[in-house]
Amino acid sequence: MMARTHIAFASLMMVACSVGILQRMPQLHEVAIAGAAGLLPDLDHPKSTFGRIVPYISIPLAAVFGHRGFTHSILMVVVMVYLLLADHQNHNWPVLPLVVGYLSHIIGDMLTPSGVPLLWPMRQKFSFKLFKADGPMEQLIYRCCWVGIGYFLWVALGRPAQAWLQPVQQLLEAQLWQLWASGKVWLVYWVERLAAA
Ligand SMILES: [Zn+2]
Repeated sequence: MMARTHIAFASLMMVACSVGILQRMPQLHEVAIAGAAGLLPDLDHPKSTFGRIVPYISIPLAAVFGHRGFTHSILMVVVMVYLLLADHQNHNWPVLPLVVGYLSHIIGDMLTPSGVPLLWPMRQKFSFKLFKADGPMEQLIYRCCWVGIGYFLWVALGRPAQAWLQPVQQLLEAQLWQLWASGKVWLVYWVERLAAA
């Protein structure tokens, strides 16, 4: 997947996790951290967004593990969670957004045919082969991610659209009833005339 789709997908996962599982408003900083963490696994590619920022990390990573290697595995997630929790007393790491964003990247790459070596160091790659990276399907998924974020925000805000829609709905209903009532008068008139003819 492309960087922007990874960011959107990671943000969607974080918002869904906040609203759907934790049942609370999504926090902006958490969504931003998840979005950034959604790019982290591609540190193993010197031309990726973060890879270009820290080439002294990405170039050795690419040389040792190759692209879509260790950084795209469950083992890496376990190591990351362990390190974050171990250092939790020194730094209050935002563990949840980091893990959600990171996992979302691995899931996202699994949707494309290249797949990911989930069980690294085993070489087997796992892929749902749903769509090609940067193809029309990915463009659609990118847009759907933002629609999804909008949906969860709407849910989190207690569906306030109901409050805006209700007066409009009532107005429309009133108008339709009036239309039906006057229409009925004409209908009765014409039916009676036709019957009399
Ligand atoms: Zn990747």
